[in-house]
Amino acid sequence: MAQLSNDCFAFGGELMSIDAARALIRERLSPIAGTEVVPLIAADSRVLAEDVRAPLDLPPFDNSAVDGFAVRFADLKRDGNTRLPVLGRVAAGGSVPTPEESAAVRIFTGAPMPAGFDTVFMQEDVRLEEGRVLLPSGLKRGANRRLAGEDLPRGKRAVVAGTSLTPQHIGLLAALGIAAVPVRRRLRVAVFSTGDEIVSPGETLAAAKIYDANRFMLQALLRRLACEVTDLGILRDNRSTIAKALSAAAADHDLIITSGGVSTGEEDHVKAAVESAGGLAFWRLAIKPGRPVAMGIVNGTPFIGLPGNPVAVFVTFAHVARAVIAQLSGAAFEPPQAFAVRSAFAYRKKEGRREYVRVSLAAGEGGVEARKHPREGAGILTSLTESDGLVELPETVTRVEPGDTVGFLPYALVR
Ligand code: AMP
Ligand code: MG
Repeated sequence: MAQLSNDCFAFGGELMSIDAARALIRERLSPIAGTEVVPLIAADSRVLAEDVRAPLDLPPFDNSAVDGFAVRFADLKRDGNTRLPVLGRVAAGGSVPTPEESAAVRIFTGAPMPAGFDTVFMQEDVRLEEGRVLLPSGLKRGANRRLAGEDLPRGKRAVVAGTSLTPQHIGLLAALGIAAVPVRRRLRVAVFSTGDEIVSPGETLAAAKIYDANRFMLQALLRRLACEVTDLGILRDNRSTIAKALSAAAADHDLIITSGGVSTGEEDHVKAAVESAGGLAFWRLAIKPGRPVAMGIVNGTPFIGLPGNPVAVFVTFAHVARAVIAQLSGAAFEPPQAFAVRSAFAYRKKEGRREYVRVSLAAGEGGVEARKHPREGAGILTSLTESDGLVELPETVTRVEPGDTVGFLPYALVR
């Protein structure tokens, strides 16, 4: 476990900016120890523990990029067409002796270039005439040939430690012949919901109760980040129950995430429970939706208290919890870069707070435009399923008009 002192986050301020919170996370939390070697196919979405260097040239040998005829460039006429006899044939996986005299070799995509041959004519560009091939002028030396190591030379870094591996990385590592890779062990994350009104899907819904959306959304989000998730159920709105559950979870997890109960209401006991069992770094962020977001330490284990409203949970997970998870997992984390799009909506906001607006993208007259979802409530789950992403409005902005350029973050980048 990442053992930290309860006051390692000592911080006096109340409403913290997202950037300040992320800086605090980077400074105060260190990655978990522990790595394992997993088969390549199991490494998708895991965090690479060590740099991987290319153990061989990629591609390993010079080969043809097309189906056609390989030649020595020096055998071609400077001006005009060249006629050469076709001596030999080589397909992918095969080999062919190099003709001694001036000649062309029939070659197929991926086949090794005959030694000393450096140029390939595409079959569509030549004419065959009784054992000879008519090669047009104008081709450059080295055309349609793939050089050994042109993708990645042997010894060069292929993937840097801290990379969250994607299918593209898996493809590259496989091409390098790497069958197993060292990755950080999975982060062990405990997830609780809080609230006397919350019941699990599958149970009957009594009056005044609602089904638990957050715990399931959070588990799905965490799984995408390769976490090992423990579902610790729902906690009643009671400070000592919550404090006990947090302390117990701290013993065998790297991170605890709760939702609900972090506002200032009389029934919001999570903040007090964390204060009694550990320490708080911040519990309010300058972010909307999601102002109540607590971050702290319980018996040496980092804790994140997300808001109760599901949209706020999604947004604060994306912008705060994700940074914590990346830091603890030893993953390189850069806040996602928003794409410039045209706003199709007008919006007013408070200065000093970063806001996220749920939008759909559509083709407008002036290019791609972002259309605000008609429902803004932080409890409207369908606003998340009926939109494409978030428009990020920085702290300094107070108004947006239709036609303004705004930054768009697709959901795929933030979840
Ligand atoms: P709270 O911060 O605990 O006051 O919760 C704010 C709102 O979010 C309330 O309407 C809660 O009922 C709702 N809420 C809290 N937890 C969940 C949950 N796990 N799933 C769905 N809604 C929730
Ligand atoms: Mg509650």
